[in-house]
Amino acid sequence: NDKYQMGLHKSKQSFDNLKKLLDESHDINDDLFDAIEDLLISADIGVETVLHFTNELRKEVEHQKFSQPSEISSIIVDKLFEIYLKDEFVDTTLKYVEGDVNVYLFVGVNGVGKTTTIGKLAKQYKDQGKKVLMVAGDTFRAGAIEQLREWSLRAKVDFFSKEAQTDPSSVIFEALNKAKNENYDLVLIDTAGRLQNKINLMNELSKMKRVIEKVIPEGANETLLVIDATTGQNGMNQAQVFNEATDLSGIVLTKLDGTAKGGIVLAIRHLYNLPIKYVGLGEKIDDLVPFDIEDYIYNLFK
Ligand code: GDP
Repeated sequence: NDKYQMGLHKSKQSFDNLKKLLDESHDINDDLFDAIEDLLISADIGVETVLHFTNELRKEVEHQKFSQPSEISSIIVDKLFEIYLKDEFVDTTLKYVEGDVNVYLFVGVNGVGKTTTIGKLAKQYKDQGKKVLMVAGDTFRAGAIEQLREWSLRAKVDFFSKEAQTDPSSVIFEALNKAKNENYDLVLIDTAGRLQNKINLMNELSKMKRVIEKVIPEGANETLLVIDATTGQNGMNQAQVFNEATDLSGIVLTKLDGTAKGGIVLAIRHLYNLPIKYVGLGEKIDDLVPFDIEDYIYNLFK
């Protein structure tokens, strides 16, 4: 996907510079490791993850008794894979049980692309013949409800909402009962992204989850944090707050079609053990693709 590669361009530039640096260096020394760290930090990988990475790199260099900087590039790809995979099989697909009502809750701060992502995903499941219900759990702003309604029209799926200011959990309760009674396959729930008060956020999210558990104990659930790739390290702070506030199952990284650097993918996986499930590549309904770690890492080095 061209846009995918465009979005990773910035990271790739840093990695091109990394190769250049290795080619031009004569010794493996602290200056070289410092320069490597600077380059990776500029790719949005984040200080903590970068330090972990260069630590691993130093150990490997010693272990393999490398003396030429050019030899390091061969192990950099391996080390990045290790950080992302953590010796596990990382499943990027969303949990889905055929015949049950599956419920995906979308969380994240305002403007990151929750509504848009729900619209895009609704269309994909609709195209597979699934019966999809979009739920306006962001009752804080009337505009948010309208916006989700418009996406439901574009995706040609059903839509459920109540008046603005209704308690989100009661909206979800009614919506899930409807989904159960009318045999929906998938319920996509939008939520308000207010971070001002962490305790409130925590309480609100756990209340919503209790409702989901209660009404539909058997279906597959996902709680997806949507992050805007263009916000760089700000996205890391959001990952931290939401990860502490609730049990997340994965990340959707949006706006990777612009000048965003993709390094945050590695940092989020390393620090919070959260896999990236989908990547947003534009404002249109088809601009959402599953995250592919191999594409991602090899693109960094192409
Ligand atoms: P929400 O407040 O989290 O629901 O965010 P919205 O879904 O309303 O999106 C906020 C803005 O980001 C809108 O203008 C969207 O068109 C835009 N947007 C969402 N996803 C993407 C993406 O992957 N790429 C680009 N370029 N824009 C996006």
